[in-house]
Amino acid sequence: MQNYETVVGLEIHAHLKTESKMFCRCATAPKGRDYESSKKDEPNIRICPICTGQPGTLPIANRKAIEDTILLGLALGSRIPDSFNFERKNYYYPDLPKAYQITSATRPPVIGGGLEIDVRGSQKFIELDHIHLEEDAGKLTHPKAGDYSLVDLNRAGTPLLEIITKPVLSSGIEAASFMRNLQSILRYLNISDADMEKGQMRCDANISVRKSGSKQLGAKVEVKNINSFKMVAAAIDYESKRQVEAIENGEKIEQQTRGWDSNKGKTIAQRTKEYANDYRYFPEPDLPPFEIGKGKALDPEIINDRLPELPKEKRVRFKSEYGLAESDAHIISANFDLAKYFEDIILHLPEAAEGSANARQVGKMVANLMINEMLGKITGIENIYNSKVTPENFAGLVSLLVQEKITGKLAKIILAKMIKTGKSAYNIVKEEEIEKIDVKSLEQIINGVISGNPHEVERYRNGETKLFGFFVGQVMKESKGQADPSATSKILREKL
Ligand code: ZN
Ligand code: MN
Repeated sequence: MQNYETVVGLEIHAHLKTESKMFCRCATAPKGRDYESSKKDEPNIRICPICTGQPGTLPIANRKAIEDTILLGLALGSRIPDSFNFERKNYYYPDLPKAYQITSATRPPVIGGGLEIDVRGSQKFIELDHIHLEEDAGKLTHPKAGDYSLVDLNRAGTPLLEIITKPVLSSGIEAASFMRNLQSILRYLNISDADMEKGQMRCDANISVRKSGSKQLGAKVEVKNINSFKMVAAAIDYESKRQVEAIENGEKIEQQTRGWDSNKGKTIAQRTKEYANDYRYFPEPDLPPFEIGKGKALDPEIINDRLPELPKEKRVRFKSEYGLAESDAHIISANFDLAKYFEDIILHLPEAAEGSANARQVGKMVANLMINEMLGKITGIENIYNSKVTPENFAGLVSLLVQEKITGKLAKIILAKMIKTGKSAYNIVKEEEIEKIDVKSLEQIINGVISGNPHEVERYRNGETKLFGFFVGQVMKESKGQADPSATSKILREKL
């Protein structure tokens, strides 16, 4: 496999979470975007003559959707052209009542730009070809018992971003990393929830292989509708291996569309593209070209005001302001809510305020507790703000730790209780009479440990210094984790 390299380009569709559809006033989702518990989310209730393609209707473009698309372009350092154009992509399918999709791939609103990924410690810039805006189709279901299909047009006409990279990715892990970074930015911008499991973001991958050093691209295979980060990586790695093996066996790679079968862990041939599809693109006659520029209806300078601090900037700031390690800063800044929660805690901690003596130490403490003691215990929760621990209560816990009223070990135990019960650290300490042991009782425990382990004491005194950890462990055990580790070490050293 060393003689080959894999070349991947991605086409990613992401739903914009505007209130109304792309070309009509229908809602894009049930109230509160709540599909699961919404009893009213029956098929074909968010439809109108426009999104069902009735003759004689006219589309009206959704300004918010266009602005959101330009905002994403600004976040990715893309070029925003002076104008862009909607066009018709003609094809017939039962979930597309107009028999054409309105899209904007030929003269898109966003050109170039890109996003840096970090794979195993090395950075790579993934350049975009362009981003265009289009409408989604409806949904077909095929009941098992029956010789008919059902169509639901609730989704028809909802605004959809299509983000197209240049063919510059070279492995499954790079593609998955790109998708994760893109999801993070879409969420930061608050323009898409981009949840792959919910179908709000999906990916097609164009995959080919070539002999290392060759400039020519091999015949490409398109793997369609990949809907998780794991599958993106698995499908690309499987497909590149399959293609190399085929070439080595003297076979010719056919340009074709394949699907990913996650049960079998394989791509499966769907159709062979002998001829390119002829979509007979032409400019949408019912929508004028849209001008973009200073003083125009779409002004990038005004849209730019909506641009928040992005994950990468946040990561750099968290490192310098709060002294976080690269990996911790990365974990916290990758998720908008996690970053906000972290800074909410800091806001309630005068000890961590900018400029205070140990702001960086306290920042690190918060990050450590969040990452190592909390995230693993709330995996079923989508948003950290839905956990039982409020940022105020989290700050209260860190306060006790900073004031040395509890030990680090106790802080972990208390936080676990806070996650379960939602109580404040202060109340847990009070109710359970958890307190750091005073020096006198600590000395008593240490005396007990020393007199109870004469053999170990002798060995230690004869030079087996690594036994020190054993004594610390015994003291911790006797004190039920409430002894202060640094005081324990200090007293132990004196007495041994
Ligand atoms: Zn409609
Ligand atoms: Mn598309």
